[in-house]
Amino acid sequence: MDHPHSDTRHWTRPPLCACPLCGSLPEQPLLSLSLSQRAGLPSDITVSVCAACDFAYVAPVDAQAYDRYYAANTNDQMSVHAEISELDARRYVTQADTLAAILGGPEALDVLDVGCGEAGLLRTLVARFPQHRYAGSDPNVKEDAPGGRGAHPRIRFNRSWQEIDQQFDVIILSHVLEHIVDLKDFSAIVGKLAPGGKIYIEVPDAAHYASAPRREFCYYFDRLHVNHFSLASLSDVVRSWGLGIRQAGRQDFTYKDGNPFPACYVIGAAGGDSAAGLEAPRGLPQALASYLAQERDRAGRMAAQFVPGQEIVVYGFGDNFFRSRAAGGPLSACRVRAVIDARWEALSQSAYAGQYRFMDRDAALREHAGLPIVVTVSWGGETIGRMLAEAGAQKVLVF
Ligand SMILES: [Zn+2]
Repeated sequence: MDHPHSDTRHWTRPPLCACPLCGSLPEQPLLSLSLSQRAGLPSDITVSVCAACDFAYVAPVDAQAYDRYYAANTNDQMSVHAEISELDARRYVTQADTLAAILGGPEALDVLDVGCGEAGLLRTLVARFPQHRYAGSDPNVKEDAPGGRGAHPRIRFNRSWQEIDQQFDVIILSHVLEHIVDLKDFSAIVGKLAPGGKIYIEVPDAAHYASAPRREFCYYFDRLHVNHFSLASLSDVVRSWGLGIRQAGRQDFTYKDGNPFPACYVIGAAGGDSAAGLEAPRGLPQALASYLAQERDRAGRMAAQFVPGQEIVVYGFGDNFFRSRAAGGPLSACRVRAVIDARWEALSQSAYAGQYRFMDRDAALREHAGLPIVVTVSWGGETIGRMLAEAGAQKVLVF
């Protein structure tokens, strides 16, 4: 097991971590979570809220370990020619509508999208605002031979923005900042802005998690989103970088599960004063407390489908399983007789073997024919549920 509290390595944010923005110590974490083991990442985390900063953060985390994690999980099969789904296309159009405020003019600008992935937004911008010069950075997309997966006639790619020896008129950070462990270090991005340049930053809007609950218990809290911003704290961070706020607002979109995902954005400008009337309301501590209370209510209703001590079989052994088993989670009072997981053989040799029995689907269906099966897989849970029912499971629940 991973024991971060006895770990001697240098944490960028230690277990009892002061607010990364203002340095004040939290009274008590909002939430503690034990998650599955994942190479280099902490298993036992807390989420703390700083009322003064209107900001929440995960600890302990280690910037270098996260860098290694993201580097090890890059996907060389990603293509900047991949088809853009209808859902994503709608989202990029909405973002482009907002970006029209800074990209809509006739003058040719240098534009950089940091963390551009398969360049879906960049390709949308190239088509809509062809007058500009575009660059993208992402560990998943590398410079490539002409016609290759990472080659595009209108977009230059780099593995990291730090490597690019150039300044840009517009820098886009779409769903990047919530992953950044060392925000002070990252503020060097401002050095890549040309005089008068502008930056567009979009993040999940933590003040509105409660209005967009997802199937998974406490979905919005995990290890990869190490920062939770409200529009107020996002604006404050941009101001602390010496930029003025030109525009700010909501940027909700439809997530791949078909439900709304709350997001907010800020456009900051180098060497400019903030526009008037853009003071965002504060209240993240209350908003996150409401979200947690709502999740615990919902978990109670989910758990009410079982008698206390109910024996179940679980399908899936990821973060959603661990959150569901945590205190107050929907599976916290159940007895897990078996866990079905594709990695069942390896898990049977792991530190978890003393706690859980791992098996493949058919063995579980044979040995525990009468028990309800709870699917805790995040993506494709409904499909797996149907498959289990067809294979003979009597009762299947998707949590
Ligand atoms: Zn703070």
